Amino acid sequence: MEREIDYDIVVIGCGVAGTAAALSAAETAKNEGKDLKVAILERADYDHRGGNSRWTASYMRMKNLDEVADNFVEDMLAFSDHYSDRKYIETLAENAGSTLRWVEEKGVQFDYLPTMFLTSSKPRLLPVGGGRAIVDTLSRRAAGLGVEIIYEATAWKLLLDEAAAVNGLMVRVKGGASLKLKVGAVIMGAGGFQGNQEMMAQYVGRDAHKIRTVAEGGLFNKGEAIRMAMSIGAKTAGQFDAFHAEPVDPRSKREEAAVMTYPYFILVDQNGKRFVDEGKTTIDEQYEEVARKIFYDLPGHIAYMIGDQKMYEIPHYERAVETDKPAISADTLEELAGKIGVHVEQLMATVKEYNAAIQPGEFYWDKKDGKKAVGITPPKSNWAIPIDKAPYIAYPIVCSNVFTNGGLATDTNGRVLSQDDDAIPGLYAVGETAGLYYGKYPGGTSVLRGLVFGRRAGQHAVSYISKANKLEV
Ligand SMILES: Cc1cc2nc3c(=O)[nH]c(=O)nc-3n(C[C@H](O)[C@H](O)[C@H](O)COP(=O)(O)OP(=O)(O)OC[C@H]3O[C@@H](n4cnc5c(N)ncnc54)[C@H](O)[C@@H]3O)c2cc1C
Repeated sequence: MEREIDYDIVVIGCGVAGTAAALSAAETAKNEGKDLKVAILERADYDHRGGNSRWTASYMRMKNLDEVADNFVEDMLAFSDHYSDRKYIETLAENAGSTLRWVEEKGVQFDYLPTMFLTSSKPRLLPVGGGRAIVDTLSRRAAGLGVEIIYEATAWKLLLDEAAAVNGLMVRVKGGASLKLKVGAVIMGAGGFQGNQEMMAQYVGRDAHKIRTVAEGGLFNKGEAIRMAMSIGAKTAGQFDAFHAEPVDPRSKREEAAVMTYPYFILVDQNGKRFVDEGKTTIDEQYEEVARKIFYDLPGHIAYMIGDQKMYEIPHYERAVETDKPAISADTLEELAGKIGVHVEQLMATVKEYNAAIQPGEFYWDKKDGKKAVGITPPKSNWAIPIDKAPYIAYPIVCSNVFTNGGLATDTNGRVLSQDDDAIPGLYAVGETAGLYYGKYPGGTSVLRGLVFGRRAGQHAVSYISKANKLEV
């Protein structure tokens, strides 16, 4: 009998999670001698596909290609205050190495490339060419196995059979027409909801529309997958009112316009006052907290790094300044304050007080040096060196949204769970669409988990379809 199906497996989204899922499904089917029709639906056109994955350098918390960084599971759990799912994280750790080897086998190279973190607590492995190299390589391999990639096609509604298993998908194509696809299973790798101002306001709250995405790719992630699944009874996971935050220069339009040299100097608000211990710990472990403080605590949601010519003496400082806009500079602090619109007398008083509070000790730019500034509020724990070498410099800094934390609850095969913790038949969520993070983001884990669970969901979807005997109607 003719199969009444358009696609056996439809993957929503062409990022790292979606491409890993599609390739893994196609490869599994091929290895098992099954003739399955697999497609990726992507809302963007070819040139903009890949959401966040397209823009990330893709740091990975890996000791080497086969092993995750030391204390990986316990750190991830501790950062979440133990709200994250232990089994999910253990599965991530166990499968990270083999998944990266799989990605390598497809043609992506990995190396310990220079990063923007001049001080770091954990190693960061990178794919050469960043997330885009992963998307390009995995999608090319998937296409080679017959996976269709359909651009400018936005999934907006899931359809169910009588037993409430997913068996269809509504898809709006460019121009506005909507198609109804008959499908065997749906794997949603459609990112978070950072590109949806209404959801940002609903979950993150007041002024959330003022938080820019860290790169334009996030604007394609509008939360439909999360909503579609919630409307059929899916459970959620991850902290819905939080997002991974990064401090960036608001003047710059480039992706990840980070300013990560502030630990060597001070940060002030528009009133010229310090508000944070800029040298609390290594930059990789503290920039998120600083970015969040800027958004939640400061007038105008903006801060300024105030420094001097010593920034240019710090080896590799340029790696930590990813903005393409030059520092604002002036021969005097008064002039600098005027240029950036910060309270002049207060800024001068803050710098004077900070310089006077600096304790003796050796300055090391590349490790926590314990060179403190004490007796001021807040104190500074490391890298306290005087700001006195004119011309003085400033960078404006705002909080950006790298990705949202709230998503769908899944098991370790990526199956979306119902509110009663049963897998919803035929529905998977991977990457940002699956909720995982609470509290502080454990850097270098988002791409990794997109790949690991994307691959696992692809494999599982093939076995699901086979078991449900969807091949022989
Ligand atoms: C600048 C930057 C730096 C980062 N740095 C790191 C890092 O160093 N390490 C790390 O681990 N993570 C990092 N991240 C985060 C990481 O890149 C992402 O979390 C990860 O790539 C997400 O992958 P994904 O496949 O889940 O989603 P995405 O890559 O965002 O892909 C989602 C795709 O789904 C498509 N889509 C959305 N909705 C629909 C729909 N309804 N129908 C059809 N298609 C849809 C989108 O167009 C997009 O192509 C960074 C992110 C950015 C932007």
